[in-house]
Amino acid sequence: MMRGKADLAVVGGGILGLAHAYAAARRGKRVVLFERHGQARGASVRNFGMVWPIGQPAGAMHALAMRSREIWLEILAAAELPYLPTGSLHVAYRRDEADVAKEFAAFGPANGYDCRWVDAAEALKRSPALVERGLLGGLFSSAELTVDPRVIVSRLPLFLAERYGVVLRYECAVHSIELPAIKAGEETWEAGQVVLCGGDDFETLYPGLFAQAGLTRCKLQMLRTVPQPRGWQLGPALAAGLTLRYYPTFEVCPSLRGLKTRVAEESPEYDRWGIHVMLSQTAHGEITIGDSHEYGADVDVFDKKEIDDLILRYLESFVRLPEPAIAQRWHGVYAKHPAMPYFTASPEPGVRVVTVTSGIGMTLSFGLGEKIIHEIGAA
Ligand SMILES: Cc1cc2nc3c(=O)[nH]c(=O)nc-3n(C[C@H](O)[C@H](O)[C@H](O)COP(=O)(O)OP(=O)(O)OC[C@H]3O[C@@H](n4cnc5c(N)ncnc54)[C@H](O)[C@@H]3O)c2cc1C
Repeated sequence: MMRGKADLAVVGGGILGLAHAYAAARRGKRVVLFERHGQARGASVRNFGMVWPIGQPAGAMHALAMRSREIWLEILAAAELPYLPTGSLHVAYRRDEADVAKEFAAFGPANGYDCRWVDAAEALKRSPALVERGLLGGLFSSAELTVDPRVIVSRLPLFLAERYGVVLRYECAVHSIELPAIKAGEETWEAGQVVLCGGDDFETLYPGLFAQAGLTRCKLQMLRTVPQPRGWQLGPALAAGLTLRYYPTFEVCPSLRGLKTRVAEESPEYDRWGIHVMLSQTAHGEITIGDSHEYGADVDVFDKKEIDDLILRYLESFVRLPEPAIAQRWHGVYAKHPAMPYFTASPEPGVRVVTVTSGIGMTLSFGLGEKIIHEIGAA
């Protein structure tokens, strides 16, 4: 039976676990990271890979997202991992969408967002994918990055091991924590502290804590096209009117209420499944498209064709891709809390639980990891 020692044990090889491991290891701590599977298979490998500060409301959350972005850029460069620093464009085809985008363009720059309204001609210049007919313009923001989640979860752990000596224990589920002892698979480890980043696993460790916290799950359906022709670039990651009603960022816009009412009356099916449509490009040229939001602890194993059809129907209203064929469909699940953007608690001395509960874990990961490691004094 293997035995080992570490200053900090991180449970979970998703992006949150990797971010905490990075923050602690960079500060010279001996870190061991446990992941139940041979490779992380949770939300972190199933997402768009959007680092999306524009989705965070002004103030502390936006500042955390921007700090996270800064660390993302640092680690992507150090690990030589590909990413697209393309920014984002929320396009408007309806008057109320343009009103919200313009209102935010007026509010944003004074509140830390590098964003502005662009007219239809500039929007078309920025993205060759956009449908010209009816396009009024859009909200361009420079901060958003796209990474390829599949590349990140497979290569980042190796970088952490090579550069910072993080000990990787994959295929090794942690089933008991009684500090200093941690039991994982057949192994026993000794650690000073533990950070549990188990994503939406509420059942294995501290089930009582998760039950009391009022957490549930959110399921999202996703699609990915075949690679686009060599050299063809989507430009910024794209979103449209439905997305303006989704992120809390835009709640400051007086016209948002009217937009929400209009969507609810015109196309209640989009509200029913929590659909808004975004797309980003991978380094290999595929386009990742999503998504929907179904809430509840029991996640439906089976995907709904109706949801995929609605996503693709809305997509066609604003985007034309040279190669629209869908190559892959999947779903992902994240932990959800009705109000908190992330949940953190200390169920016993030396143990910290951290899970992002608002579908923005790629964006917040490195900022949150740094903050938590600083708070627990593992820094
Ligand atoms: C479809 C989809 C699209 C999304 N798009 C975006 C996006 O573009 N931008 C963005 O910012 N966010 C996005 N999100 C949200 C983001 O993906 C999540 O917030 C984030 O990945 C959560 O990371 P995590 O490490 O907490 O969880 P996970 O990625 O789920 O990782 C948790 C890991 O812990 C492991 N684990 C659990 N318990 C144990 C145990 N006892 N022992 C060992 N291992 C254990 C699991 O096997 C798992 O690998 C999206 C989410 C989904 C589902």
